[in-house]
Order: sequence, then C-alpha cells, then structure tokens
Amino acid sequence: MTQQTTVYLADYRPYSHPLDRVELTFRLAPQATRVVARLHFRPDPARSPGADLRLDGEGLRLIRLALDGTPLDCQPDDTGLTLPAALLPADPFVLETEVEIAPVGNTALEGLYMSNGMYCTQCEAEGFRKITYYPDRPDVMARFHVRIESDLPVLLSNGNPAGQGPGWAEWDDPWPKPAYLFALVAGELVALPDHFLTTSGREVALNIWVRAGDESRCAYAMDALKRSMRWDEQVYGREYDLDVFNIVAVDDFNMGAMENKGLNIFNSKLVLASPQTATDTDYERIEAVIAHEYFHNWTGNRITCRDWFQLCLKEGLTVFRDQQFSGDMRSHAVKRIEDVQALRARQFREDQGPLAHPVRPDSFVEINNFYTATVYEKGAEVIGMLKRLVGDAEYARALDLYFARHDGEAATIEDWLKVFEDATGRDLGQFKRWYTEAGTPRLTVQEEWKDGIYSLTLEQHLPPTPGQPVKAPKVIPVAVGLLNPNGDEVQPTTVLELTETRQSFRFEGLASRPVASILRGFSAPVVLDRAVSAAERAFLLAHDTDPFNRWEAGRALAKEVLADLAAGAPTVGPDWLEAMVRLVQDDSLDPAFRALALRLPGEDDMAATLAAAGKQPDPAALHTARRRMAAALAGALAPALPGLMEATQITGAFSPDAVQAGKRALHNACLGLLSLRDGGAAAEAAFAAATNMTDSLAALAALLEIGRGQPQLDAFEARWRGDRLVMDKWFMVQVLHAAPDQTARTVERLTARADFDWKNPNRFRSVIGALSANHAGFHYQDGASYRLLADWLLRLDPKNPQTAARMSTAFETWRRYDSGRQGLIRAELARILATSGLSRDLAEMATRMAG
Ligand SMILES: [Zn+2]
Repeated sequence: MTQQTTVYLADYRPYSHPLDRVELTFRLAPQATRVVARLHFRPDPARSPGADLRLDGEGLRLIRLALDGTPLDCQPDDTGLTLPAALLPADPFVLETEVEIAPVGNTALEGLYMSNGMYCTQCEAEGFRKITYYPDRPDVMARFHVRIESDLPVLLSNGNPAGQGPGWAEWDDPWPKPAYLFALVAGELVALPDHFLTTSGREVALNIWVRAGDESRCAYAMDALKRSMRWDEQVYGREYDLDVFNIVAVDDFNMGAMENKGLNIFNSKLVLASPQTATDTDYERIEAVIAHEYFHNWTGNRITCRDWFQLCLKEGLTVFRDQQFSGDMRSHAVKRIEDVQALRARQFREDQGPLAHPVRPDSFVEINNFYTATVYEKGAEVIGMLKRLVGDAEYARALDLYFARHDGEAATIEDWLKVFEDATGRDLGQFKRWYTEAGTPRLTVQEEWKDGIYSLTLEQHLPPTPGQPVKAPKVIPVAVGLLNPNGDEVQPTTVLELTETRQSFRFEGLASRPVASILRGFSAPVVLDRAVSAAERAFLLAHDTDPFNRWEAGRALAKEVLADLAAGAPTVGPDWLEAMVRLVQDDSLDPAFRALALRLPGEDDMAATLAAAGKQPDPAALHTARRRMAAALAGALAPALPGLMEATQITGAFSPDAVQAGKRALHNACLGLLSLRDGGAAAEAAFAAATNMTDSLAALAALLEIGRGQPQLDAFEARWRGDRLVMDKWFMVQVLHAAPDQTARTVERLTARADFDWKNPNRFRSVIGALSANHAGFHYQDGASYRLLADWLLRLDPKNPQTAARMSTAFETWRRYDSGRQGLIRAELARILATSGLSRDLAEMATRMAG
C-alpha cells in the first residue's frame, strides 16, 4: 500500500522562495513529451532564511537541470526535487528544468493526458507536479508564458494568444495564478465562435472547442456562458479580464469541469446538448456548470485559496453563486427544492457516516478525497446562512470589500469572515463553527399558546462526528412565518437567530393560535425534528406562502406514509393522497413544482431518515413499500391523469427553458403513474412518438419500472450506438430500474459488453455509479452487488485512483443496516484494504469507512 501521510492545516508555512514568472515550453509527443520550465525566483531572506528550495514532481524523467544557465547535479526523489540552500544565489535567479512525460499512458487523467487523440490537462488539485518540477501549491501565484510545439492544428493555453506559426503557438497570461489553474489543450478541434462585450467595453472572443461534428450541439452552452458573464457583471459587479475565453469539451474527464484561467475544460456531457440527445436535466446542469466555472474567474482564480484546506472558500462561494444564477434564470422555488434534495441525499448522508468532516477539514491524506458534498454544497449553505444573517445589502458590501481587499491573493476562511466582520461590525466567532465542525445539527421545537402570546422554543442538538465528540452551540438562522387557521399569513417570514442551545422566541398580538411554518426556504442545513399532525402538514401543504415549506410539508407526509408501509401498515392513509390529488390539479402552481411534489421520497433518503431516528432500514421492505405507495397514488390520481397529460402536452418547437421543462416533468411524472395501471401502453406510445431525449428516456424508464421495455431498449441502442453520451444513458437507465434481485446480474451483463469502456469515467459511472444508486438492488441480501462494486473498484484503482475512491463512498452507509449486511460490506472493505498496491486515494477512503 502507498504510504498514508497525513497533512495538517496547523502545519501550514508560506513557501520559502517567491516565484514571479514561469516560462514553459511543451514539445508534444504521446510517448515522450518534453517540458522545459524556466522558473524566475526572487529570494526573500526575510521569509525563510537559509531554506532549501523544494519542488514537487511525480513520475517525471529529469533530463536537465540548470541554475542561471549552469548545469546542476541534483537527484530527484519520488515526490520532488530539493536544491540545497548553499547552491542558491542571494539575487533573483532562473531555475531551468527539462523533463519527459508520457501523456498516452496517463489513465489517471491527472496532469497531461490524452483523450481520443487530443492532449489535455487536469491540474487541480495536485496534477501540475506530474507535468514539471514546481512548487505545486495554491499560494504560489505566478505569471505564466507558454509555448506549445506540435503539428496538431489547435494549440491552446491560459491567458491571451501571444503569437503562432506552423507547428507552434504561444500564450501569455497576465494574471498571476497558482499551478492548479494551468491548462493546455492540443488537438484536431473545431470551434463554435461568438463574442461578448463587457460593461467597460472590452471585446472578448468566445470559443467552445469540440470534435468536428459536435459544433451543432454547443449553442446552449454558449448562450449559458454569455448569460453568466452578464449576470456576474450585474449582480456581483465582476467583469471578465482577458481578450479570449475558451471552453474545451473532453470525453475522458474525472469531474464535471475545471475553471482553468481563460481555458475551461469540460466533461463533454456538460457542454454538448441537442433536444434529441440531452434531457431537460442535462440542459439545466449545463447552464449551472458553465456558470459555475465562469464565476470561478473571480471566486477562485483572481482570489484563490491559500492551501487546500480552504477549498470551500472558492467552492462554497461559487456553488452559492451558481445557485443564485440558476434561480434567477429559472424558478427560485424549484431550484431551492432541488438543491435541498441534493444536499440531503449527498451531504446529510456524508455527515451521518464515517466520512463526516468539517466544511474546512483540518487534515487529509489525499486532497482529491475532499472534493465532497460537504465542502461544496454545505459550503454553499454556510454562505446562504451568512447572507441571511447579515441581510442582502450588507452581503453585497462585504463581497465588494472581499474583491477589493484580496484580489490577486491566496486567502483563507479567516480572511473571508474578517471581511464580513469589517463590513458589518458583526462578531462571527461563533458562526465560524460552521466551517470547523462536522455534523448536521438537529433542531427540536416546542410551541406554547397562552394569553394571546405564541412562543416557540428551539433547541439544537449537535451529534458527535469522527474526532469531534462534543460541540458548542452554533448560530442557526431559523426563518419562521405564522399562518392563521383560515390560511392567512399573520406573521411574514422573520429570521430568528438561535445562538444558544435552547432559546425561546415570542410573538404577540395574535387573535388565535397560529400554525407555524418553520425553517422557511430551508434557512439552515439542519434536520428539523418536530412532531406535526398529518392534518397540520396537509394544512401547510395547502396554505403555506413559502414554496419550500409547502413542498416540505408534502414530503414529510410522504415520508411518514412510506415509513408506515415499510413497517407493515396495510394501506396508504387518505391525508397524503387527498393532498396530492388537490395539489397536482392546482393550476395556479408551477408544473415543475407539482412534478417535484409528486416525486416519492427516494429509498436511500428514507433509509437515512429512519437511521437518524434510531430505526434500522430494511432495503427490501422499503422498496416494496415505495412501489405500493406509487400504486396507491396512481389509483387516487387515475381520473385526473388523462386531463393532466393533455394539459401538459407540448405543442410546437422544443425549448429547454424552465417553462417547457416543467411541463414535461409533470407530463412524464403522470406517464410513470399511468403505466402502473395500463400495463405500459401509454409509455410505449410515448416512446414511439418522442421527439426529444427527455420524453424518450422518461417513457423508457416507465417501462423498465414495470418490467417491460426490451424492444424499446433495442430500438434506443440501434439509434444511438454511435453516440457515447447518449449510450451512457442507455446503460444507466437499465441499472437504475433493475429489480432488486436482478441488479447485480444486469450490471454483469452490461459490463461484459465490448462497449463498456470502463476506463472512461462517464461510462464507468453510468453502470457502477447506477449500481449503488439502485438502493434495493445494491443492498440485495445476497451481497452480490457489494462484491461486484468492490471488484470494479479494485480493477479501476490502478488505472484511475481518483474515480475509484469517489465511487467507493457507496459503502459509507453500512452502519445503518442489519448485522448481516454490515458484515458483508465490512468484508468487502477489508478485502479492498488487504489488496497490495492500493492507491493512496482508495486506501484513505476504505480506511476511514472501515474505521
Ligand atoms: Zn468549482
């Protein structure tokens, strides 16, 4: 096993030798690329007198090393190169290295690698050290000049073009940046060109680079880019700062996308879209991720992170900004509900298990393992809370100060909070616990109605997490509104600040006992433990003015129904069904909202809810219960379904906008219910008639869900077998909708196919990721799925440790289940840990999960 060395935040020291400028020359060749680096150092005796110069480097063949032109004889070790202090001049000097690397053999997809004949890079977090010897840490910011030599027609790097000729191109980036933002692309690419005029009149050339034939699928991404650029000017006062902005789509990519300065590199599934090939969800994701990476130009690139412990500084803020943007582009209510669903599904789950860690961790073994829902999504929630606490105007002032004060710097969470303290005069000492402590707080509520005064007593409970058994109270903003029994709002949303363990709040001057709507808009990432009658939930579902809490009331009702059924209740009670029938036919409500309300709670979500309440979830019982619940809903809605489907049928041209997408979502939700009653007849007709991927895939899923759909799968394959991205959907839908006892077998069948290219992360995730997303199938009692997942992780790990480690989190929930399943999962974790040559990435994850 690779040695597991833990890195601690407390050990941070500034880099010993300031670096001003970097000149890089790449002579590209698949087996033997030469990289010449000239690093312009400026010694600073005050910073670290007498320090050696340490450069990071992994898997490099050192050809040449020279200091101010004089060859040096220093031998590198496994992780880098040290130049003894005695060799270093007191004046500025240039260190020149030449190394050789082999991009074609790089299957880890970190550093410089090849994807379908194209060269590309991924340097965040620590990939640059696989390209050349360098101080590969985010607080070393330098100006880069890059020369690329290759016969390939398109040669790209960061910054502005600085000249080109036959077989070469040069790029110059005027903005100092850390190495993780370096990027290089070379290939046979074509561009969808466009341009953008910034507020102050800078003309920016925009290009989305793809393989020939894909240009027609870039229009939506380009449109999203221009809207993002305008939005950041209007909402945050942030303008773009180079003459060009390039986006490149790559098929083999570990993550979603990367914000390299001026040259964003994207997983092709987050760029390419046409109505025939992309679903509404794909369009929404493309818009959000294009915006996210673009917004990083200021929150991440111009102001970067001092060290990787501060990752949430750029990610939490940028996720928060992309969520604001999507809300502005679409529906704030629907966006908020989707974001909270995702938070609960991924982050709450993480917080509940052995991988729980603070938004800002204080140690890690492999930083790639901390690109987590906690750092990203909870990091964004923390910023949302901050904004709620200080108010919109103060938030805007604080952000202006942040950009003014830290532009060009590598900052910390302390810097970020200090900006808010200085701008608002608030003490954020207690608030900082949101960054330093893991775990999802639970909030209990007691109500009292006496002498015309309504009081609300809130109490916070902070569960223990690994390494943090005891915690002090947090600041929790709790947005509350009060409704009269007739449904009128008597107290509009007000934010209560819970700062103590237990605190009471009074509302006076009320004529009658109100119904409270608590945690409106999901004002804090907490679990609300509140015993509410089904009648009161139904009341809130019908009357709450806060759309999030309206949805939440329906969701809570649904979870109670599901829990009862799984525990053996004979039938579905009427409260939830009647509420759903009313809601789904309420044409004053956005169809997208109604579609979300119709979606039943997921089985993993339900298992987490039960486990948090101290109950042991039974995956098989949950699955059966959920099917019975869907059947009951389909029965109750049966008279309304044909009318609803008629009313939500789109006539006219396809548009990916929120209005059409919402209608399609409601239409297809109804189709799924109808197919539970008509044996799939409507879904078969819908599949045959579908003119876009959203409808096509929804009809296919509806059929698979009832054990049909083989002819449709065959037709789908026949039409799309040449399209990698669409075929990923074909793989995935079969695994997601496989019956529990057939899931492992389905995966075995699919992974035996020649087109299961498991080294491609998208294809791997489409099958192996779907395996763990099929809750009842993954947790099927015989343990076959656990074994299968472990087999594939061990197979992938030597090739691509980063993706293997990320997919291993399917095992993080083992403590929820019965001793039989616990034993099976622990045996797989033990088998993984006993394997020799395990990567640092997977070893760290398996160790933490098994512990
Ligand atoms: Zn990001």
